[in-house]
Amino acid sequence: MIYFTPGPTKLHKSVPKYINLALKNKLLSKSHRGSDFHIMYEETEHELRKLLNIPQSHLLFFISSATEAMERIIQNTVYEKSEHFINGAFSEKFFKIALNLGKKAVPHSVEFGNFITPVSFAGPKRSETACFTHNETSSGVSLDLQELYKYKNKYPDKLIALDIVSSVPYVEVNFSNLDCIFFSIQKGFGLPSGLGVLVISPRAFEKSLYIEKKGKSVGSYHKFSELKRYSDRKETPETPNILALFLLGKISKELNKIGLKKIRKEIDQKADSLYNILPKTKLFSPFIKDIKHRSKTVIVIETAVNSKNIIDTLKSAGIMIGSGYKEYKEKHLRIANFPQHSLNDYKKLAKYLIEISHS
Ligand SMILES: *Cc1c(COP(=O)(O)O)cnc(C)c1O
Repeated sequence: MIYFTPGPTKLHKSVPKYINLALKNKLLSKSHRGSDFHIMYEETEHELRKLLNIPQSHLLFFISSATEAMERIIQNTVYEKSEHFINGAFSEKFFKIALNLGKKAVPHSVEFGNFITPVSFAGPKRSETACFTHNETSSGVSLDLQELYKYKNKYPDKLIALDIVSSVPYVEVNFSNLDCIFFSIQKGFGLPSGLGVLVISPRAFEKSLYIEKKGKSVGSYHKFSELKRYSDRKETPETPNILALFLLGKISKELNKIGLKKIRKEIDQKADSLYNILPKTKLFSPFIKDIKHRSKTVIVIETAVNSKNIIDTLKSAGIMIGSGYKEYKEKHLRIANFPQHSLNDYKKLAKYLIEISHS
């Protein structure tokens, strides 16, 4: 079965090899305060920084998930007021987390499937952190990062948080322009779930110290100051997901060897190959009409018939794709296009979609 679901999804082909290596090295029995762990942590951090071009000025923390990153960002960078640019389920989740933490969270919403032009929203006064989702996995719409940098230039005092969960490592982020960037590893890295990565700017870190000093809660074991204290010595406050940390380092190293330039080109090719066949079918059309904001990594297709039938037919052919999100469950197909999905996987998928639409 080939998994094109948006995550968990198809694993990177080398995952079994590296799981075996971790077992062979007894890595999973060794202390997370010992030197073998430190070496492994350092390698993972090094490969990841190299792959994504993360500047040394920014701190890198390992946490449990992207959802956790949302909570940590709100706790540690928002004293009172945050802003949320909402165009789907994941940006909405970020907003709800801020509300749950008792912050004055201000939503800027557009209709599901629409793209966001950040500067067109006049922010509330004294908002501290503005939260964005680069790739809305629920609708397949992308944020134009140039528009985000324009927003940052217009409001240089605000901290900018960016969710890149379903576009990493395809997305090319200028980390120096942003303050809190995060993702988890069960999507574009093709790894088992259970690890999140949070990258923060010096300003975001200082903000968390300020809030802490003011006596407001910034969390406990995963507050920024504690995460930094441990990451400085290549550890995490808790016993982490050692296997996932190890796998992330090894897969990042492989991706570094191939080079992101090549990987990005292949993702473009695969996306084009799928989008291009849609007009030739009677049943399918892209949900996002605006090409510039149409995701390359999560392809959302509108179906003229109940999407459940399409999904079931594909399943019997050994292909697993995602249904639509919530109320679009039976109207959409969602298809992941990550580095671990090969051109051949995509050819096979395209062939079946054409067959189904002619039968
Ligand atoms: C999957 C996803 C998340 C949640 O990731 P977890 O690892 O489950 O916390 C957040 N944002 C986006 C855009 C996602 O696609």
